[in-house]
Amino acid sequence: RKEQLQLLASVEAVTKDGYRMKLASNISSVRDLEQAIKYGAEGVGLFRTEFLYMNRTDFPSEEEQYEVYRQVAEKAGDHSVVIRTLDIGGDKQLEYFDLPEEDNPVLGYRAIRISLDSKPLFKTQLTAILRASVHGNVKIMYPMISSLEEVRNAKSLLEEAKRDLDERGISYCHDIQVGIMIEVPAAAAIADLLAQEVDFFSIGTNDLVQYVLAVDRMNEKIAHMYHPYHPAVLRMIRQTVMAAKEAGIPVSVCGEIAGDEKAIPIWLHLGVSDLSMSSELLLRVKHRILNTFASDGKEIGASCFRLSTNDEIESVLLQFSEKDVVLDRK
Ligand code: PEP
Ligand code: MG
Repeated sequence: RKEQLQLLASVEAVTKDGYRMKLASNISSVRDLEQAIKYGAEGVGLFRTEFLYMNRTDFPSEEEQYEVYRQVAEKAGDHSVVIRTLDIGGDKQLEYFDLPEEDNPVLGYRAIRISLDSKPLFKTQLTAILRASVHGNVKIMYPMISSLEEVRNAKSLLEEAKRDLDERGISYCHDIQVGIMIEVPAAAAIADLLAQEVDFFSIGTNDLVQYVLAVDRMNEKIAHMYHPYHPAVLRMIRQTVMAAKEAGIPVSVCGEIAGDEKAIPIWLHLGVSDLSMSSELLLRVKHRILNTFASDGKEIGASCFRLSTNDEIESVLLQFSEKDVVLDRK
């Protein structure tokens, strides 16, 4: 089974009736990317850079970061690489960076909030990414965005980093694309406004589910309430996708749900063709896509939006994904 799946690495992800999807990988290191390429990933939809900052005694320098981003950009070839800026705080800590004790760390000082508050730290990372942008198809993505101001402030720091590079006489991609994670309900609610400011969206369902349902993603006591197919979550996803389409910008999904085969009808119904997931899940998802009729999937996906509970939705999706394996339809 594993060997059979591996044969699909070089096959395009197309449904039986010709709907082309693009499956990229979530990575945290150059090694992850090598694995992703082996599994046929079409680029990197999410490079979690915080791992570059972990297991060391101080922040990585511009040079150190540039070296890693450059390698990733080069290895990805023509495919795009979405580099997400530092997403620490909440569940991710750095030994050498003294974050305050907080009552609600997940609602606290984390991700873009830290970056915008620690400008030199943020600019070092932006500069390293900009420098790597001449070595491939690199894009920048900001995590945990909850307002328009945050996007504007991040963008103006990016412009500062560009001017500094101009002064240093170092080249970079002048029209590098800038996108944001949609993972906070506020961002989904103002997705139409945010879409005017950025080049792309990526929906981070791991945090979105946590914040929409007010269910801590790390708390085992309430893990049974962590429902990616809750109608409230699906509505937020739909609203985000509609806003992106209205504004004419691309939207992808990079949370764990992207690697769940069951979710494919949702993407077909909403017209989402870009997914980014852990490499190990990629070939299974591709196998499912290859065995699905988009026309059928769309109907199932649409029906999910008429159902009222997570359980109902999940069971319809499960039924569909199991049925399709058995019936090898012509
Ligand atoms: C997410 O929140 O869905 C996501 C992809 O980011 P992370 O899991 O790193 O928070
Ligand atoms: Mg997240």
